Amino acid sequence: MPIGPWGRRPAERREVEAASAPGSDTALREAQPTCEQCGAVLAYAPGSDELECAYCGHRNRIEVAPVAIVEHDLSAALRDQRAAAPLDETEVVTCSACAASFTFDPDVHAGECPFCGHAIVTDTGAHRQIKPEAVLPFEIAEPAARERVRAWLHGLWFAPNRLKRFGQADGALHGVYLPYWTFDSATTTDYRGRRGDVYYEPRQVRVNVGGKTQVRTEMVRKVRWTPARGRVSRNFDDVLVLASPSLPVWMTDRLEPWDLGGIKPYTAYYLTGFQAEAYRVELDAGFALADEKMKKRIAGDVRLHIGGDLQQITSMDVHHADTTFKHILLPVWLGAFRYGNQSYHVSVNGQTGAVQGERPYSWWKIAGAVLLLAIIGGILAFIYVQSGGRLG
Ligand SMILES: [Zn+2]
Ligand SMILES: [Zn+2]
Repeated sequence: MPIGPWGRRPAERREVEAASAPGSDTALREAQPTCEQCGAVLAYAPGSDELECAYCGHRNRIEVAPVAIVEHDLSAALRDQRAAAPLDETEVVTCSACAASFTFDPDVHAGECPFCGHAIVTDTGAHRQIKPEAVLPFEIAEPAARERVRAWLHGLWFAPNRLKRFGQADGALHGVYLPYWTFDSATTTDYRGRRGDVYYEPRQVRVNVGGKTQVRTEMVRKVRWTPARGRVSRNFDDVLVLASPSLPVWMTDRLEPWDLGGIKPYTAYYLTGFQAEAYRVELDAGFALADEKMKKRIAGDVRLHIGGDLQQITSMDVHHADTTFKHILLPVWLGAFRYGNQSYHVSVNGQTGAVQGERPYSWWKIAGAVLLLAIIGGILAFIYVQSGGRLG
């Protein structure tokens, strides 16, 4: 079992703010849970409501207090975070290569950053943040996730052979809960723009037919633009924003969709045996990202509202009301591997098993394929010439 500079002390979480906040579960997160049969350290068993003992195999039931998942008022939180949402102090390690901060369980993991594969050398530190309100527990266990990655790698064209061996031997996957913000908002938008209606107008044209000039009638497409203005409303529910820059955006976007129906009130039990990343995108920046996402939907509403064949939007004044947020954790299996001196990421949605990844190309294989095609082309051309050009 590897022992890092952070020692073997289990990740420790403690409540910082007064426990008067709704949804607080101080009692549940006091200590690292241990097996009721043998006393060993436990890990959450994906797809269950149980903690599994790695030593005796005993399944320990997670007792979750019946607390509601609370959405917090955004404007109050932006004025004063402590007033609106309970804070939490967590022991985290920070990767010196990519700056990701995450909880670390030395009983389970080797000393490697799940985001970039770099060996972790930095100290632990306490991180004071808005407490996660909810967690989507892992559904897919590690062997199943590895199987998905293996299948994905085998399906890749032009991948180097060494890469294809990943997943068989050296490719360890890290189970990580990624930090997200979700926002609800009732929006009203005043817009201005133009509506375009297509119509056709006859036009006389002279054409040359067999040396004679004829006059013909042709229909020409035209657009009649008229000014448009109005108001549209839309209520948004659970607009998701990743609160971390640790993974490329195209990859995390493609991890969607998430089914947030399976979300549970936060308890650290679901995190045992896994890592959880601390958010690095603050609440206000997170809301700015959510606002951009919402604006895209609203623009679609505005186009429908303008009607006609074509629409131009010159301005949208979006008003948010009753905006609430929560901080949630979503499950992802991550593999980071180095190839050459590049680092590549593979991710598996811990709920659905969908795989996304960056991948290197083998230029030798591509060159080989191009050469092969050229040879086949040459042979075909040869046969064609030999047959006197009567083929096909
Ligand atoms: Zn046990
Ligand atoms: Zn890193």
